[in-house]
Amino acid sequence: MTSESSKTANQKTDQQLHKEKMQKQKERVDAQIAKNSIERGVAILMTGNGKGKTSSAFGMVFRALGYGQRVGIVQFIKGAQESGEVNFIRQHCDNAEIYQMGTGFTWNTQDKAADIAASERTWVVAERMLADDQFDLVVLDELTYMIGYKYLDRSKIIDAISNRPREQSVVVTGRGGGRELREVMDTVSDVKNVKHGYAAGIKARRGVDC
Ligand code: ATP
Ligand code: MG
Repeated sequence: MTSESSKTANQKTDQQLHKEKMQKQKERVDAQIAKNSIERGVAILMTGNGKGKTSSAFGMVFRALGYGQRVGIVQFIKGAQESGEVNFIRQHCDNAEIYQMGTGFTWNTQDKAADIAASERTWVVAERMLADDQFDLVVLDELTYMIGYKYLDRSKIIDAISNRPREQSVVVTGRGGGRELREVMDTVSDVKNVKHGYAAGIKARRGVDC
């Protein structure tokens, strides 16, 4: 066998091995897809210390809007600062309803009674969306902090999420949130902070951080 023809034989072997490996993987994936039979909305929690929780939630917002679905977005904490995603939705997305608590971070307001009153007003909007089957997707951005600071009753939140319309999906974002919230969610992603440019002194950038 020439070195050229043995090289071809080895390449074929590599290709064959790859094909067999991929075939097995396809069988595993297809078997799982065939096994899954439940059709309903999903409850997703994006938590952890890394960057990407809110931006992931808005990724799902745009996916849903892309299918003509109706989306409700409630932002706890946020609203004092501008954000690109909210600007875009307000200008271009008639199928999305946004409500912002608008008080900014609790370490900025430094007023507990006012924060609690604002979070309760905001929760009324969230609860209304979670009871309305016209909303295909509801995003509750930074909701976990309302639980963490005990501004809102945890069981009230868990009940509203558990009893939402069957076809409705919900995305909750924010660090923490507690075991009970994690248990009621179908999908929980813990976004890990490996590093963040902020720690190296890089200022928050429009289009990336806000
Ligand atoms: P994003 O909105 O970018 O998806 P996030 O929702 O995961 O971020 P938040 O805790 O809500 O994170 O903070 C929002 C802002 O803080 C963004 O400007 C984001 O870049 C920044 N941020 C997120 N994670 C970190 C981190 N680990 N260290 C410093 N800044 C962070
Ligand atoms: Mg966020």
